[in-house]
Amino acid sequence: MVSTPLPEDYRSGFIALIGRPNVGKSTLVNQLVGEKVAITSPVAQTTRNRLRAILTTDLAQMVLVDTPGIHKPHHLLGQRLVRSARSAIGEVDLVLLLLEGCERPGRGDAFIVNLLKQQPLPVLVALNKWDKVPLEQQDAAEAAYGELLAETSWSMHRCSALSGEGCGDLTAVMAAKLPPGPQLYPPEMVSDQPERVLLGELIREQVLLQTREEVPHSVAVSIDRVEEMPAKGKGAGRTAVLATVLVERKSQKGILIGKGGQMLKTIGQGARLQMQVLIDGPVYLELFVKVVPDWRSKPQRLNELGYSEREI
Ligand code: GDP
Ligand code: MG
Repeated sequence: MVSTPLPEDYRSGFIALIGRPNVGKSTLVNQLVGEKVAITSPVAQTTRNRLRAILTTDLAQMVLVDTPGIHKPHHLLGQRLVRSARSAIGEVDLVLLLLEGCERPGRGDAFIVNLLKQQPLPVLVALNKWDKVPLEQQDAAEAAYGELLAETSWSMHRCSALSGEGCGDLTAVMAAKLPPGPQLYPPEMVSDQPERVLLGELIREQVLLQTREEVPHSVAVSIDRVEEMPAKGKGAGRTAVLATVLVERKSQKGILIGKGGQMLKTIGQGARLQMQVLIDGPVYLELFVKVVPDWRSKPQRLNELGYSEREI
């Protein structure tokens, strides 16, 4: 492979995406990288693993660290997520603080702003979901956030992670804030997570989307096998994925399977379609549901599922 030399002032570094749950961090990661690497959903606290997404341009390589939202911990899992978001601040070159432009600033925002004021890294602020702010309210919304950030020198940028509006400008400002440095990852790489993890996340996303309030946070997915199927016979040329969805209670298993297995079928179909895009080929997916009481409070279970102390 012939690679063109990078410009002398090429920049690179790590950027932590920080913000309350549901402000659109994962959506922004996908928008910036141009591929679905992070799962998103209307349910808060979707993101569990700390995912690194890589955005390479002619001027810079930006490694985006999508952190779980900072919030009040309830479970052991919650505590680990918060610790992870906080520790991310210590490992990056720049913080991108996402705020929900379409809502007025609240106490949660003030909490995060205070946290960030106490550390030395440069901070950029994205006012996300700007597509939801009516034109006549835009100035007032920006003024309210200006007040929240009054004692800082952080610059504010309007954007919509969903439509992509403002995201190009945001990329340019982020790149300019990074220190000079070489590419840290191959330029074609968009995520540091193995495919297996991404596949599991696509299933978890469908569970969250389809079951909404009933099951959400007590779900984990383990990918048991990923295999190429033989070139001949039934399912020829497909990638077979065998996965188990873990829930905490028997009642949740019932909801997930649904009447006559209908819910699990819908979840499986949705996940399979997304997997086919990721893998770029036909997928055969088999899903199982297993009850593991209280898995969220068991350190060993969390480790097995990849939410280890070190990683998250
Ligand atoms: P996270 O918890 O911060 O990672 O938030 P997600 O990326 O999972 O997004 C939460 C919800 O907000 C999803 O339903 C997204 O589709 C939605 N969302 C994210 N960004 C935008 C945006 O710019 N505009 C609108 N209208 N919705 C958005
Ligand atoms: Mg997220």
